[in-house]
Amino acid sequence: MKKIKTLQCIHCGKDHKLTETNYNCTACGGNLQVLYDYNLIKKRLNYEVLQDNPERSIWRYLDILPVSSIRHVPPVQVGWTPLYRAEKLGDEAGVNNLYIKDEGRNPSASFKDRASAVVTARALELEEKVITTASTGNAASSLACLTGSLDMRTMIFVPETAPQAKVAQLLVFGATVIMVKGTYDDAFDLCLKASQEYGWYNRSTGINPFTREGKKTCAFEICEQLKWETPDKVFVPVGDGNIISGIWKGFVEFHRLGIIERLPQLVAVQAEHSDSIKRAFETGTDVQPVSGKTVADSISVSLPRDGMAAVMAIKDSGGFAVSVTDAEILAAIPRIARGSNVFAEPAAAATYAGLLKAVKEGKVKENESVVLLITGNGLKDIQSAMKSVGKPHLITPTMDDLKKLVADNKLA
Ligand SMILES: *Cc1c(COP(=O)(O)O)cnc(C)c1O
Ligand SMILES: [Zn+2]
Repeated sequence: MKKIKTLQCIHCGKDHKLTETNYNCTACGGNLQVLYDYNLIKKRLNYEVLQDNPERSIWRYLDILPVSSIRHVPPVQVGWTPLYRAEKLGDEAGVNNLYIKDEGRNPSASFKDRASAVVTARALELEEKVITTASTGNAASSLACLTGSLDMRTMIFVPETAPQAKVAQLLVFGATVIMVKGTYDDAFDLCLKASQEYGWYNRSTGINPFTREGKKTCAFEICEQLKWETPDKVFVPVGDGNIISGIWKGFVEFHRLGIIERLPQLVAVQAEHSDSIKRAFETGTDVQPVSGKTVADSISVSLPRDGMAAVMAIKDSGGFAVSVTDAEILAAIPRIARGSNVFAEPAAAATYAGLLKAVKEGKVKENESVVLLITGNGLKDIQSAMKSVGKPHLITPTMDDLKKLVADNKLA
């Protein structure tokens, strides 16, 4: 692929050819980033070309993705999710220009489809027969969804605590589900060993350099949907740190191609006990493991797999990190729903909890434009959602019972 210049190690800087490795740095094991021939891409991809492009999916950015052609990609629409102006929710937070990027509108109902689509397309080009991933739930359901109709076996490793809806997705799409008695980190290590032992193609975050390539497309869309304006701040829920580093890469690449004029600040939102990246960013030390315990399963990570790139993204963007409690996360679910009509899963709702905290601490000014990445749909984890709301009224189907409710003023 002529457009790709190198797979460069973010740790030691070693360059690799595309054919040299599918995964990490061959010298130090660090995570790789894909660097392109930006002068070549500049000739094909610019503001005019994009404006005339009728493709409404991540494949409108094929010129800057590590895939040669899209002849064989799964026929579902990944990306080009709506960006809503959330006026009421913004008023409540004290922010005048608040936007919601509704990633729950992807085929498997989470942001992860962007990464899975690119990795699946790559696996097809490599003519892989078996693909595998470890996941807290969404990366897995996304991969299962996108490979569902393909002639490729999908082997999934998830912790036994994965929310039921996500497990249902895996089984419905026909993946082989290996449920691990342990954490996401345990599932991750076992998946890695299995892929080495059996030669399965590994999609896992922090192993496969192409997940970040899919994830960056969300930043491209935000720029286009804001009519080529850059938002002041983007709030990103952070577990492994691959979304935030991907989003950053997307903004940097559009800037480098001359498509946007300035870069946003990124705000990493983590759960209180799953805050390894926040700690590393604030103390300037290496990324260290934490307990990882939180109700927000999608950001429940002990040792982040793309932590270094995430810390660099926060730092380079001049952003900051904020942590929120499980109670704040759960409370944010109905508030987002009632303020913007979008049902978020706990990890996604964490962004709004983080915004409230940042506003309170004076870190967001009222006239700044702010985008919240709502990374997953609320139907993926209704057990958590139900904790944040009241109970329905159960009555017999009679006017008598209904009238009692009205008389008790319970229907207000
Ligand atoms: C995976 C995921 C995240 C976190 O992404 P990382 O790359 O692990 O930081 C946030 N929200 C949802 C819904 C996710 O599925
Ligand atoms: Zn290296």
